[in-house]
Amino acid sequence: MELLSVVVPCYNEMETVDIFYDALCKVLKTMDKDYEIIFVNDGSKDQTLEKLKAIYDKANGKVKIIDFSRNFGKEGALLAGLRYAKGDYVTVMDADMQDPPEYLPKMFETMEKNGDDIVGSRRVTRKGEPPIRSWFARRFYRLINRFTEVEIVDGARDFRLMKRQVVDAILQLNEYGRFSKGLFAWVGFKTEYLEYENIERVAGETKWSFWKLFRYALDGIVEYTNVPLALASFVGGFLTFVMFIELLVLLVLSLNGKVITNTTLVLSVVLFLGGIILLAIGIVGEYLGKTYNEVKKRPNYIVKKYYD
Ligand code: UDP
Ligand code: MG
Repeated sequence: MELLSVVVPCYNEMETVDIFYDALCKVLKTMDKDYEIIFVNDGSKDQTLEKLKAIYDKANGKVKIIDFSRNFGKEGALLAGLRYAKGDYVTVMDADMQDPPEYLPKMFETMEKNGDDIVGSRRVTRKGEPPIRSWFARRFYRLINRFTEVEIVDGARDFRLMKRQVVDAILQLNEYGRFSKGLFAWVGFKTEYLEYENIERVAGETKWSFWKLFRYALDGIVEYTNVPLALASFVGGFLTFVMFIELLVLLVLSLNGKVITNTTLVLSVVLFLGGIILLAIGIVGEYLGKTYNEVKKRPNYIVKKYYD
């Protein structure tokens, strides 16, 4: 029988893991696949690990736990899960029921019917989300898709079903800064999205503050395109040219006897230029920081214990 691996990153999910596990098992039992569930405990500070161990004890080898030494973030947890997964098919799901397990059979159906390599999920509404968060999210997708050659689908969640070949391809990408939405798009393959309405988490609260998300979006842009770097040099070059012309004009004017004493003008020009220079340095800094992280070649996570 073919094996399906379900990877579940968990950070402070003690209120949701039991509900999730029960719902998932109910669905998995109706399917004609063998399965393993890999919970990644991403350094939870609550009772998540104890809850997971209780599940592990009653699951007769179908559940594995990867316990991290601290919180490394969802991307690290996903990577660990994909590395440990042995399945012919692998799926990635959140523990908070925002990725409904009932969709799994539908995903398989779509995959078989259309010969897809990846079946993803995409929420068409952002119901229940703060409006400014939605607004920024939409801007982000517009921006990143304009600048990069990979297409990152608006509203696509990490919840997706993949064939072994796709997982192996993802694991070949060994950069440190991992932006999953980009990685999945970058490897290609025949991908299809199932659409659904946004579902709010059953319990607990989101681990993403506005600034954490903002930072995440910025990382995504910096990791997938060098356009901002080019933009800095373009703006810089353009301004130098304009300033050069302006100086020529001023020179001609003063040669013709006009006195130029507009301090305000000079001051604003200086401030303007200062701003541009800082912007350019900031952009270079972002890329330098990324390069620094890559060069260090640190692992994305440390496993404290693996419950096989
Ligand atoms: N998560 C994680 N490490 C983190 C933050 C989140 O493993 O540092 C997990 C979390 O337990 C959940 C999933 O990633 O299973 C998605 O997190 P969340 O529901 O908070 O994000 P949202 O759905 O609000 O985008
Ligand atoms: Mg969630």
